[in-house]
Amino acid sequence: MGRPRKNGDDRSRRDRIFERDGYRCVYCGTVFPAEELTLDHVQPRVRGGDRSDGNLVACCRRCNVEKAGAPVWAFLARRPDLRANFLRYATAVWPRIRRAVLQAAERRDSPVAER
Ligand SMILES: [Zn+2]
Repeated sequence: MGRPRKNGDDRSRRDRIFERDGYRCVYCGTVFPAEELTLDHVQPRVRGGDRSDGNLVACCRRCNVEKAGAPVWAFLARRPDLRANFLRYATAVWPRIRRAVLQAAERRDSPVAER
C-alpha cells in the first residue's frame, strides 16, 4: 500500500508513481531504473481512463509495447503470467480495475462444465 505523502507536490507524478510501485513494472514484475520505465494508463485514455493515480502504474517499455492500446483486462486475460504479477504488484490501482481483471480472467479460464 502506498504511503500518503503530504509534500509530494514538488515531485513529478511520474516519479511519485514509480516510487509507489517500487520501480517495478507491474506486468512483468521486474524492477527497472526510472529511465527504462513508462507511466501506463491501466485503462487507456481513449477508452475512458482518467489521469488519477489509481489508473496509473509503472510499466517497462517492453510491456507497454505489448499492451499497446488494449484494455488491461483483455491484455491480461491472454497473459496469465503477467496477470499474476499485476494482481500482486498493482495494489494501488482502483478496486474496480482489479475486479475487471479478475472477472475477465474467470470468464476465460472457467473450464467447460462436464456432463
Ligand atoms: Zn514489464
